[in-house]
Amino acid sequence: MPIDHNDFYIGGARVAPATAHRIEVRAAGTGEVAGSVPEAHPADVDAAVAAARTAFDDPSGWRTWSAQDRAETLDRFAAALTERGPETARLVSLQNGMPISLASVLEGVGPAALLRYYAAVGAAKTADDRRPGLFGGHTVVVPEPVGVVAAIVPWNVPQGITFMKVAPALAAGCAVVLKPSPETVLDAYQVGAAAEAAGLPAGLLNIVPGGAETGRYLVGHPGVDKVSFTGSTAVGRSIAETCGRLLRPVSLELGGKSAAVVLDDADLGAVMDRFFRATLLNNGQVCWLGTRVLAPRSRYAELVDAVTGMARSLKVGDPLDPATQLGPLVSERQRDRVESYIAKGVSDGARLTTGGGRPAGADRGWYVEATVFADVDNRSAIAQEEIFGPVLSVIPYTDEEQALAIANDSDYGLGGSVWTTDSDRGLAFARRMQAGSVGVNGYANDPVAPFGGRKASGLGYELGPEGLAQYQALKSIYVDQQV
Ligand code: NAD
Repeated sequence: MPIDHNDFYIGGARVAPATAHRIEVRAAGTGEVAGSVPEAHPADVDAAVAAARTAFDDPSGWRTWSAQDRAETLDRFAAALTERGPETARLVSLQNGMPISLASVLEGVGPAALLRYYAAVGAAKTADDRRPGLFGGHTVVVPEPVGVVAAIVPWNVPQGITFMKVAPALAAGCAVVLKPSPETVLDAYQVGAAAEAAGLPAGLLNIVPGGAETGRYLVGHPGVDKVSFTGSTAVGRSIAETCGRLLRPVSLELGGKSAAVVLDDADLGAVMDRFFRATLLNNGQVCWLGTRVLAPRSRYAELVDAVTGMARSLKVGDPLDPATQLGPLVSERQRDRVESYIAKGVSDGARLTTGGGRPAGADRGWYVEATVFADVDNRSAIAQEEIFGPVLSVIPYTDEEQALAIANDSDYGLGGSVWTTDSDRGLAFARRMQAGSVGVNGYANDPVAPFGGRKASGLGYELGPEGLAQYQALKSIYVDQQV
C-alpha cells in the first residue's frame, strides 16, 4: 500500500500545501510506487522560512534558552525519533535500497544519537570565554546562533545526513528549514511527527520536500542566514555561487573519489568485512567510499583476486531482507548512470574481473552487480569521476611514494583508507593523504570527530564540536578597564 501524505510540517503544525503538485516516490527494489507527498513551491517555502524566522527572532525564544534547557528538549526529540526508528529505517530502505541491516543503524538509531551528542556538546560549555587583553581590559568571546538555517540533503543517507545538520543547528540555538531529496521524502515525515510528539517549539524545524527548484529558491531566500548543503559537487558549486553573491555563510559536503590504499604488508583477508564497508557500503552510494583501490605490483594479482572474491561473495537481494549486503540503486536514472560508467571503463581498456551487468533474476528494481575493474589508469574517467554505485577500480602502484601520488591525484579529497598490519605505518601514510578523513584498517566517520572535504569535496565540517561551530557566529565584547 503506497504511503501518501497531504501536508507539510511547518510552524509546528500540519499545513496544507499551496499547490496541487506532488512528488511520487518509487521503491528501489521493485520500481513500484511507494508513496507520494506534496511538493513545496515558493509559497510553501515562504511559509516555512517565515515560521523559522518567527521562532528564531522571538526575544524570549529558543536561542535565549540555556543550553541545558535546549538539551532537555532535544533529548525528548531523540526519544521520539528512537520510538520511530525501525519504521524510519524501513522507509529509507524501501525508497533508496539501503540494506536494512545498515539502515537500522544509520537511519534508525543514528539521528537520535546525533541529537543526544549535540545536546551534550552544547550543554557542556558553560563558562564565558573571557580573554585578558594584550593592552589592558578584557574581551568576552560569545558564540551566538547563526540564525535561520536552510538544510538541503541528498537521498543516499537521508536521515543520518539530516541530523548531521539539524542536531548541531538546534543545539546551537538556530531554527531550520529542511529540504529533503525527492527520492527519499517518506522518512522525512517521521521527523516531523517526532518533533511534534516531543513538543519541539513551533517553527524550529520546518520541512519542505522538493527538488532542485525548491532548493534553489530556499538557498537564495532573504529570510535565510546560513545554508548547509550535502550533495553533488556540481550543485554545491552553484549553491556556493549564490551564497557568494549574497555573502551568506555556507557549508558544503560534496562528492568524493577516495583511495583505499593497500600497503604491501596488508592482510586483507583478515579484515575483508571492514574492507567491504570501506569500499562498497550502501550499494556504493556513500560519498566517502574508497572506490579507487591501490594495490602494490608485488602482490597485484593476489589482491585483485581478493577484491574480486569479496565482490562476488556479497549477498544481493531485497533491501528489506536483513541478510542482504548489496541492494538496488536508488533510481532508474542512477542505475543508467552507473551502467554508462561501466561501459566507459570497458571501452577505455580496463579489465573487468567481476560484475558489469545486472544480477541474474533481478528483473525489477534498479540492481547492478558489484563490479571490479583491474589495470585501471588513475587518469581514466572511472578513476576520476564519482560513479556512486558498486564499482571498484583496482590501480597498481610500484612503491609507497607512487601510491601516495596516485591517491592524491584526484579533484576530490573527502575520505580514504590505508590497509596494513603495521598501524603506525598506516597512520604515517594517512597523514600524507589529501583528504578530510582517513581510516586505518577500517573507516568510520565517528560523530566525535570533524568530517569534511578538501578540494572539490567541500567546505566546512560536520560532526564533532566543530560541527556545532558551523551554526555559530562569534561576537567579541571588549570591556575596558574601569576608570
Ligand atoms: P544532488 O546534488 O543532485 O542533490 C542534493 C540535494 O540538493 C537534493 O535535495 C536536491 O533536490 C537538491 N538540489 C538539486 N539541485 C539544487 C539546486 N540547484 N539548488 C539547491 N538544491 C538543489 O545530489 P544527490 O544525487 O541527491 O546525492 C548524491 C551526491 O551527494 C553525491 O555526489 C555524493 O557524493 C554527495 N554526498 C556527499 C556527502 C558528503 O558528506 N560529502 C554525503 C552524501 C552524499
